[in-house]
Amino acid sequence: MNILNGNLKFKNLSLYANNPKSILIHHAAAKHCSIQDIHHWHLEKGWAGCGYHYLVRKDGSIYSGRPETSMGAHCINYNSTSISICSEGNFNNESMENKQYSALLELTAFLIKKYNIDKIYGHSELNLTDCPGRNFPLKNMKTDLAVKKSSQNAANSQIQPIPYPGYLMKMNPKLIDENVRLFQKKLIYKNYNLGKWGADGYFGKYTFEAVIAFQRNNELLADGIVGINTWNRLFSN
Ligand SMILES: [Zn+2]
Repeated sequence: MNILNGNLKFKNLSLYANNPKSILIHHAAAKHCSIQDIHHWHLEKGWAGCGYHYLVRKDGSIYSGRPETSMGAHCINYNSTSISICSEGNFNNESMENKQYSALLELTAFLIKKYNIDKIYGHSELNLTDCPGRNFPLKNMKTDLAVKKSSQNAANSQIQPIPYPGYLMKMNPKLIDENVRLFQKKLIYKNYNLGKWGADGYFGKYTFEAVIAFQRNNELLADGIVGINTWNRLFSN
């Protein structure tokens, strides 16, 4: 996951710290907007600047807004105890495309793990508002995150260091391989995105890209092939 820096200049950002206990989901109620647009709108309201911690755009890019350590400005009574994620769009009359949904899910899963929290709310569940919009896939999000979490727990409990199977695993979307499934579970556990197929045992494009990302992040030769070094690093923790 790649979080782009919004590079926002805040005015007198509150010194009150944020102590996240939940993730709060919003929409921008605007068809198109950048993090800078939101920043300007919120400055115009006399706020310190962008009230949200993150913006997920329609193309799947993720921008940082207010620092996670600062209290947000997005939901009455919850600003100092939550991380807020805003989604570009108006989901009262639009529906969310896959790219944006996957990025939103990935960011939320990452934050849930980072803060060890499990509560996710749509803004309207806490305040009198129609945010994040009647078409917002909040229910799907909650289901997908619960599935992700239980598969991670399952993957974690069954994945002790497993010895390298002794052969190179390469991209081959036609062949199912139980060893591929094992390392896919480990990649998911480490928060790499395998797309909607998850740990299916097929070494396809998403798995290939996740392997390369993992190799880069671990200073291994980024060739997208799982050999002994990549395997052992994956299963080392
Ligand atoms: Zn909202």
